[in-house]
Parts: sequence; C-alpha cells; structure tokens
Amino acid sequence: MKMCRMLKPFIALVFMIGALSLTAQEVDVQRVEPPFWWSGMNNPELQVLVYGTDIANSRVNIEKEGLTLNQVIKVSNPNYLFLEMIITPDAEAGTYPIEFTSPQGAVYEYQYELKKRKPGSAERKGFSPADAIYLLMPDRFANGNPGNDNIKGMKQQADRSDPDGRHGGDIQGIIDHLDYIRNLGATAMWINPLLENDNPEYSYHGYAITDFYEVDPRFGDNAMYKKLVQKSHQKGMKVIMDMIFNHSSLYHWFIQDLPMPNWIHQQDTFYRSNFRGSVHMDPHVSDYDYHKFITGWFDNHMPDLNQKNDLLSDYLIQNTIWWIEYSGIDGIRVDTQPYSYKNFIAEWGERIFNEYPDFNIVGESWLQKESITAYFQGGSKLAGGYDSNLPSVTDFPLHFAMNDAFKESEGWTTGLARLYYVLAQDFLYGDPYQNLIFLDNHDLTRYYSSVGKDMNKFKMGIAFLLTTRGIPMIYYGTEILKHGKEHEGHGGIRTDFPGGWPDDDRNAFLPSGRTEKENEAFSYISNLLNWRRETPVIHHGKLVHYIPENGIYVYFRHHENEAVMVVLNNKDKEQTIKTTRYKKDLEDFNSAYEVTTDKMVENLSTLKVPGKSAMVIELIK
Ligand code: CA
Repeated sequence: MKMCRMLKPFIALVFMIGALSLTAQEVDVQRVEPPFWWSGMNNPELQVLVYGTDIANSRVNIEKEGLTLNQVIKVSNPNYLFLEMIITPDAEAGTYPIEFTSPQGAVYEYQYELKKRKPGSAERKGFSPADAIYLLMPDRFANGNPGNDNIKGMKQQADRSDPDGRHGGDIQGIIDHLDYIRNLGATAMWINPLLENDNPEYSYHGYAITDFYEVDPRFGDNAMYKKLVQKSHQKGMKVIMDMIFNHSSLYHWFIQDLPMPNWIHQQDTFYRSNFRGSVHMDPHVSDYDYHKFITGWFDNHMPDLNQKNDLLSDYLIQNTIWWIEYSGIDGIRVDTQPYSYKNFIAEWGERIFNEYPDFNIVGESWLQKESITAYFQGGSKLAGGYDSNLPSVTDFPLHFAMNDAFKESEGWTTGLARLYYVLAQDFLYGDPYQNLIFLDNHDLTRYYSSVGKDMNKFKMGIAFLLTTRGIPMIYYGTEILKHGKEHEGHGGIRTDFPGGWPDDDRNAFLPSGRTEKENEAFSYISNLLNWRRETPVIHHGKLVHYIPENGIYVYFRHHENEAVMVVLNNKDKEQTIKTTRYKKDLEDFNSAYEVTTDKMVENLSTLKVPGKSAMVIELIK
C-alpha cells in the first residue's frame, strides 16, 4: 500500500524585522512494508521497511505494549529504515502508533495495524495430486472490465493488435468465467503474476514486478484478488499465486533508489545469467559459471535480487506470508527457483510451512534432466543434505518425453519408452507424486502444435497427463485446441481466449461458439478431468507400469480396493492384446468401464486397442 504523507505538524512562523518564516523539517513517510501484519503468527518477529526522504535521520519509538521495537537498522541510503520488531504473544489486534521524530523535532505517527488471523488460516490445505490445475494468463483470458485497460500515468497502454502488448484481460474476467473453469473439471488455478508491472514494454506477462504489495490496477486491485480467491473457494477451486524472487523490474521503486549497493547483483558491464541450473550440483562446476548463473540478470530490465542480503531476504519472505494470510491462497508457484540462492529458497519454504504446515509450493525448475530437477524438490535423497523445503517441482523431463513419445516410432529409447524411462527414474525424487506435470505452459510451444495438430496424438497426451503420477496442469485454451510455436514468438502462445472480449466475433466459452473439432477436444478433456476429480485412485494410487512392448504401454493406479488401468497404443493400427502379462494387477477385478468411450469392457482377458489411442479403464470388482 502506497502512502504519501508529507506531514507538517510544526510550522513555526517567526516574525522578525520584516516577515520571515521558517519551516521545521518534515517527517516524510512514503511507504511502509508490509503495510500491516497479524497477531498470532507462529513467528513473532517482524521487519518493517520504511521509505521516505531522509527518514533515517528520524528517531523511532513505539510506546504501546504488544509491539516491541528491537532494533532500528540504518543502511547506506538515508531514505530507508528497517524496523526489527517483536510481536508479543498476547498482542491484541489493533493499531500500534510508530512515532517518528525528525532532528528538528517534527513528529509523525504511523498507525501500524496488527490484524487478527482468520480462524483456520494456518490449517489451509494446499493443492495436491487430487487437483488438476488450469493455468491462465490474466491479460489474455478475459476482459471483464474494459474500463481498467488503460490507467493514466502508467508506462504502457493497451493495444490488442500488438501480440506483445497489453490486451486488457483482468481479474474480473477470471471471476466471470469461474464456472467455465469449474465445469471443464479443473479444481485449481495457477494465474500468471498479477502484481504491478509498470513497465514501458512487455508489461502484460507480469514477471517484472514494480510493487510487491499491489495488484496491477489494469488487473484490478488487492481487494478484487482476495474476492477472486473467495469466489473460487465457494466453487470448490483453489488458487495458486505466481511469485518471483529472483528478479524484479528495473522500474521497481526500490531499484530506482537502492537501499544499499548489495540489494541487487550490480554489474560493471551488463551480463545475463547462463540459464544453467546444473551449476548447483555439478561437481566440476567452475566458479565463473556458478557466479554467472546466480548473479547474471534474467534480462536487461530485470535486475537480479541478492537474497544473501538478510534485509532483502526477510522482505521477500514476509511478502509471501503477507499474501498468503491476506488473500487466502492455497499455493504458490515460484518462478525461476534455481536462480535464487538455494539457502534462501530453503529458508523461504521453511518459514512458510512454519505458518501453514499443509500448504503447497511448486518450484519452477526448468531443467533438462531428472536428477537435476529432483535436486530442487524437498526431501531429495541425493542433494547432499540440502533440502529446498518445496514439496513440488515442475517436471520438465516428463514434459519433454510427453512431447516426443507420440510423434516418434517405437524404439529401445524412443516413443513410449521415453515415458517409461522418465518414470523409472522417480527414485531420484523426494516425492514424484507431487511433481507438477504439464504438456505445455505459457513459455512453451502449445501441445496441439507440438503434435502437428494430430487429434489422436493430442488425446494420447491428455489421457496420459491426467492418469499418470503427479499433479496435472492444463494451459488455458488447450481445451479449444489453441496452437502456437514458442520460437515464433511468445505472443503467439498466449493469444486471447475467443469470447473473453466484448467485441469478439465468437464465444468459445460456449459450445455454440466452438468448432466441431474444438468441441471434440473440449469434451475429451472435460470428460477426463471431471472423472479424475471424482476418482481418488488417480489422486493417491500407486503407479505400476509395464515396459512398453510392440507399441503398447500399460500402467495401473492402485489404491486400497480401487484400480485404474491405462493402455496406450502408439502404433497406427489397431492391436488386440492378451492381458496375461498384467494378471497380477487384474486378478481382483471381473469387469471394467472404459472412461473415454463411456462403455463397459466385457472381457478383460483380451483388449482391442484402436491405433494411436489411449484406453482409460476403471476396474470393477
Ligand atoms: Ca480490462
């Protein structure tokens, strides 16, 4: 919350020969962050950043019991003060005056509020393998309020004709389509970042934050974000917030007036990161490469934050806890996890789970190999004692396999064997069932394009995604066969959802606004998602798979007395398979129901599997 308070409590007028007025030095407090906090948190410590012209020259005092000022930290820039405070266990909710006194005796009181924690706040359940996540880019999903498309004074205005410009989508647009997302069968939403990005270019994607405490006014405001979370909960859906701590925008106010030189990784000559997360565990890594990865900027307008600075580290961790407590979110997707200092990530995770033990966080670990990815997941057995404390990681190795498997001919390591070999390496992970799995996302070629717009391959990918281990995520528009290739520009993989804008010529949120093919894809995905939502064996079931043979890959999910069998046929021709090989997994079951065709399977001893298809079979005792 921004505050501009130029207080002039003392205006002394001194009359001498002639009239001469002197103004006492004012206390200038422009920002206080976090803007408020809560009593009853497990961690009694609170660090408050105060920003204002020469604020470091003021004396600070807190008289009211409940909030104790432990330390006032001055840094090299006199426009900052960091107040280290302790909230006593019996502190009541209410306002606590923080008194600032200038050297000339001007006094300003800031009313710092401690709110009461909502009952149940600490017990919230994060997203889990029982969920299916819908990822959407808010600028490109739906424009619920054309009135906020342009905000006077902000650096970029809307231009829907520019693939890289702002298009006007917003939080109201998401609220307006919660039923659509729910009916599709998703149970959670990951929304690309919504915080202020007051940048002259590319401000729509949200990954260059200019204010960590404010929703971008072109998306709505903080209260509207909170409303979105509440409305989602009413409809049985969770909300996952996208957070970025590796970098901010060059136009962030604290970058424009740095608290101290080591707040960011400064460079004499600009250099980017080398984007190789493998520097963390590579036993042969050079200092040069490690340093470049960690301290290189993500881009020239994204300064690299130095989380080894304790004041910054506390600032970022508290910012996260503030958003969880304020908005009621159910999880976090953290951007560029490996790019931050790994001990910062571990402390961040530890402090979040100290307040919310059943919360969930997925780290974006965009890495090529299973072993390197596994290193960044909490509970990793091979990280040399390091524990990121983040339960989930983005499973890029499985993403790559799912993008190759159905396009290739079958071989020892190609085709379906790719899926098999990725999953065979699950021993590396702390808990592979917590991996976030996805065919594509906002940074990747859309899956329909990846499989050459082949509906059969597309469906195989969807069926595998929604039945294998992990927490599946579907990128918005996949259900209406959105296409686009990453190398042709990010604007093309983030196009507007048809019908999200009042003047669109069709509305693909409705069956009548979709083509026949789009409706076919929508029904296929929605049928499987809605079935998955009500099928606990897919949420908790142990995965057992059989090495692919002759273009057939069979796996089971087992939980208590329930089981699902999935058969993938990667050959073009229909295959009839005998199920004797799978006897052990089938022996308790007499009949079965095929989910995607909505038909009973009368005979489990042989199965007719159409070419290039997936059978999802619920086994019945
Ligand atoms: Ca708008």
